[in-house]
Amino acid sequence: MINVAIDGPVGAGKSTVARECAKRLGIIYVDTGALYRSCALFCIKNNVEISAGNETAISALLNDKLDLSIKIEDGTQHVMVNGEDVSELIRTPEISMAASTVSALPSVRAFLLEMQRSIAAKESVIMDGRDIGTVILPNADIKIFITAKPEIRAKRRYDELVSKGVEVTLGEVLVDVNRRDYNDTHRKEAPLKQAPDAIMIDTSELSFEETVCGVVDLIRDLGKL
Ligand code: C5P
Repeated sequence: MINVAIDGPVGAGKSTVARECAKRLGIIYVDTGALYRSCALFCIKNNVEISAGNETAISALLNDKLDLSIKIEDGTQHVMVNGEDVSELIRTPEISMAASTVSALPSVRAFLLEMQRSIAAKESVIMDGRDIGTVILPNADIKIFITAKPEIRAKRRYDELVSKGVEVTLGEVLVDVNRRDYNDTHRKEAPLKQAPDAIMIDTSELSFEETVCGVVDLIRDLGKL
């Protein structure tokens, strides 16, 4: 049994790296950003405005009406919102910004906290997010903080969105990356920051394969798998 916490800013390559490492190690990968995205989608679908001033209504909606779960099929995570697979629907720039806003609300973080912990308590996982090493799994076997320069992260996110057919410009993605970085690092509740005992990897000059091999080696070196 092993718990790996991977945190870092938007577009650092966390999720693609974490997914590939989990595959090579034969363990589960959990993308926690998808949970915040699903909460944001649910608010939008139910016409509940996403703002700090509307926290009571958001919290009531999530607690009373949202049945959120994840399902792993062939190593791929699917997020289910009241029985509907929303994994693709949550990947738009609109939902990215809405997730960033909704994730700053303490009641939303509390709503998702136990769910994340109970997944990690049941099996070996690589879990990625913003506060996995600092809040969700403070006793993780290993904590890794993956980062890269903002321009490089924006370019990666842009390539990913374009490959999915989303119409955006690189400039728009850079604005979005900077704004979300600011929100994530400045919020009061569980801000994005490197845990003191996390290992930092800057992927600006690293290839995907180099990053994956580095992370897999760090995890294997623990001798728990
Ligand atoms: O990682 P991803 O870009 O999908 O996350 C969407 C948003 O959800 C982030 O911008 C961040 O505000 C929030 N998030 C968070 N804590 C996590 C994962 C994501 O606050 N553990």
